[in-house]
Amino acid sequence: MSDPISLPRPAPFPARVSAFFWEGVDTDELRVQRCSDCGELRFPPRPMCPDCHAVAWNTETLSGEGRVYSWIRPVHPRLPMFAEDTIVALIDLAPGVRLVSNLCDVALEDVEKDMPVEVFFIDLGEGRRLHQFRPRSERSGG
Ligand SMILES: [Zn+2]
Repeated sequence: MSDPISLPRPAPFPARVSAFFWEGVDTDELRVQRCSDCGELRFPPRPMCPDCHAVAWNTETLSGEGRVYSWIRPVHPRLPMFAEDTIVALIDLAPGVRLVSNLCDVALEDVEKDMPVEVFFIDLGEGRRLHQFRPRSERSGG
């Protein structure tokens, strides 16, 4: 059997409305939109608030702490830019903010719903970064 082919992770290709998010990731920040009218956070980036339909918004930088909502380990077909044991997870970061990322530094069988996680960033080369998540221990009293 031949060795599996490995390719570099693809860099994000931002759209105009998501450029602020990827510029944040490149500086190790997770930025989301906050509606200027109703104040709701939203993700993924989009031009209009899904709650009040306002088009004015500001950016807000999140702490990067969240909880696992759901997770899978893709098995077929394996994409050659991802390790065989990559876990794909939905992470809840704040009300209205759920994103897809990879869960690292944990075995699939040890992942639990609502597991506390934190963001970290990996280098994709050429100044590009990518957000990933790993387990975090809960702070006492928080
Ligand atoms: Zn709104």
